[in-house]
Parts: sequence; C-alpha cells; structure tokens
Amino acid sequence: MARKWNVMQIWLQCSECGRLNYTTTRNKVNNPTKLSLKKYCPACRKHVAHKERQKLK
Ligand SMILES: [Zn+2]
Repeated sequence: MARKWNVMQIWLQCSECGRLNYTTTRNKVNNPTKLSLKKYCPACRKHVAHKERQKLK
C-alpha cells in the first residue's frame, strides 16, 4: 500500500519512564513541530507527558 511521503509514523515516549506507549502518525507539512501529548502511561499508572520519537521503518 502506498504511503504518503509527508506522513510519518512516530512513537510517543513517556517522559518519566521512557516507555514507548503509543504509536501515531504526524504530517510533517501540516505539523512541523514535534508532538508532545499528555497520555496515560500504564507503567507509571498516571497521565504523563509523552514526547515524539521517530519510528524505524
Ligand atoms: Zn511512564
């Protein structure tokens, strides 16, 4: 299946324990800045800031 060149897959990494909890996509044309989201981390058992991390293809 063809993938658009400007959409990239990323991980969302917990800023406290470093665990990769979520995977998502980001359009680097529409969203040139790095993502940082508050998400639930099952390892920390609370909501913490998750930072974007490049996913290997
Ligand atoms: Zn965590």
